[in-house]
Amino acid sequence: MYNKKSREQLLKEYQKETFLRKTVSFYKYCTIKNPQEYRDSLYQSFEQLNIFGRIYVANEGINAQISVPENTFELFLSTINQDPILQAIQLKFAVEDGLSFLKLKVIVKKEIVAYGIKSHEYDMNHTGKHLTPVEYNQSIQEKDSVIVDMRNYYESEVGRFQNAITPDAHFSKELLPMVANQLAGQEDKKIHLYCTGGIRCEKASAYLIQKGFKEVYQLGGGIIQYAQDQKKYGFKSQFIGKNFVFDDRMSERITEHVLAHCHQCGTKADSHKNCANQTCHLLFIQCENCAQNYQDCCSKSCQEFVCLPKEEQLKNREFENKRLTSLKLSTKFRPKLKGLQKNAV
Ligand SMILES: [Zn+2]
Ligand SMILES: [Zn+2]
Repeated sequence: MYNKKSREQLLKEYQKETFLRKTVSFYKYCTIKNPQEYRDSLYQSFEQLNIFGRIYVANEGINAQISVPENTFELFLSTINQDPILQAIQLKFAVEDGLSFLKLKVIVKKEIVAYGIKSHEYDMNHTGKHLTPVEYNQSIQEKDSVIVDMRNYYESEVGRFQNAITPDAHFSKELLPMVANQLAGQEDKKIHLYCTGGIRCEKASAYLIQKGFKEVYQLGGGIIQYAQDQKKYGFKSQFIGKNFVFDDRMSERITEHVLAHCHQCGTKADSHKNCANQTCHLLFIQCENCAQNYQDCCSKSCQEFVCLPKEEQLKNREFENKRLTSLKLSTKFRPKLKGLQKNAV
């Protein structure tokens, strides 16, 4: 049970839609005994509701980012309320909506957050204390507070909490040992974790508690909820820039601050994109000028490649793959970011 239509076809269908959609996310750590069975039933019921998105199901729980038609939203709510696993789950709504997904994917995974840590290194019965965005906002300003970004560097590059520690991690697997190292000696401080929607902090906080950190807090609902509550209650946002998201929107703007730079010319810019050369598909930041000059490509060579006639491109694909593989060794951004969206949490 899965969708086999091409992206072009899906986009056409999407453009014909006469209703709006809401981008919603949720997660839950809980034991799912038969993930495959649960996956199939979830796929069926969500497909009937014309829901798009990406859902991971594992023994340890579920993580979902979805796009729900407004006209079936009530049905969606009653469907999840009848599901013993999803009942009363906290839904988070995007701040900036728009085209987020074009089809539904429900995938069985080993873990919903792949930190690559061993099961004895954390205990999900001992996780950090959840703070509401308002409480978190207050707490991070108190003495002995440390703020830690639990996301990878390309996410914090475009948006982060002021004064946060932002690990230089390319992969989730590198993140936890890196953070534990950076925090060594601060076991008695108030550690404030945050991530996009909260799911990564659950496991990360359990890991840090096991490592001896005494006071670990997590931002409930993550940056997504913080941005919603900031609007609702009108406090000053201490998160600046953009919230990177793992769907076609790429990011939600939270404040007007532009924190990053174009990877090609160095001017201030914070728009991520994937290189237009499909074989490359590198995720990088590009300013509008460079987007024009390079035709949305990450380099002159990728631009030359996309300018070749289609048949030439096909013929040269093998050569192009080899070229990109050799570049992996020399380009700072390319090796770790290729195919990023697929691995995202
Ligand atoms: Zn530029
Ligand atoms: Zn490229």
